[in-house]
Amino acid sequence: MPSTESSRILCVSVHDVAPQTWPLCERLLQAVRAVADIPLTLLVVPAYHHHPAADTAGYDRLLEQRLSVGDELALHGYTHLDEGSAPACWRDKFMRRVYTQGEGEFAALSAADARQRLAWGLEWFEHRKWPVHGFVAPAWLLGQGAWQALNDFAFQYTTTLSRFHFLAERQSLYSPSLVYSARSKWGSAMSRRGNTIWSGMLRNAPLARLGLHPRDAHHPQTIRHFQKTIEKLLVTRVAMTKTSFAQTWCAAANRDVQPHCDGMAAGEAKK
Ligand SMILES: [Zn+2]
Repeated sequence: MPSTESSRILCVSVHDVAPQTWPLCERLLQAVRAVADIPLTLLVVPAYHHHPAADTAGYDRLLEQRLSVGDELALHGYTHLDEGSAPACWRDKFMRRVYTQGEGEFAALSAADARQRLAWGLEWFEHRKWPVHGFVAPAWLLGQGAWQALNDFAFQYTTTLSRFHFLAERQSLYSPSLVYSARSKWGSAMSRRGNTIWSGMLRNAPLARLGLHPRDAHHPQTIRHFQKTIEKLLVTRVAMTKTSFAQTWCAAANRDVQPHCDGMAAGEAKK
């Protein structure tokens, strides 16, 4: 395990892993593997869009295989659907209905509802005896209730679009995720261009994050782009799962080696 004293880190995650999306996820996994045999973090949704798989045993075996080769499975919501109360203002409406297309499950839940969904998710992992240390909210949207609920669980980390949060330490690190838009050809091309510029700007950042979504598998240019990005980042970085990064970083911070996390006071907005 490399130490953060000398290495910059790369975390690559695959979002929205579920039986329904698995064929696309598999294409992403193969595309990554074609350029680098690196550990990945798979963000798993136990009841994606309320449709549990017919053949859960087969799907479970596939995820077991990923665990056995060193990948991490993290909880990524329960249904991946925003079923919270109606948006109160135009900004919320835009974020929840248009920008995230109604998928920000934890954007507007009460603490009690968020707690319930986190508990269901953990039960799903427990039933399979699989380790789980991370929670990433769908669309990276965590409302106040979700932040409150997270305090009641032992997750080591969560991530938002721009930050990596070390939950037990109540610290966070500015670390924006590279992510591709795939809603239109134009959006997809723009996001590739943006990611090229962004990954250059983050050259000296301790952590680079790359988030892949099943929809990315539909775009050969996006696949080639993230393959090149991974190759380029690995020239100066070591890849690890998010849990490994959280553990390595916090161990180094505790030894006072690289304590560059920004402090986060209790109750402070964590966006
Ligand atoms: Zn998602």
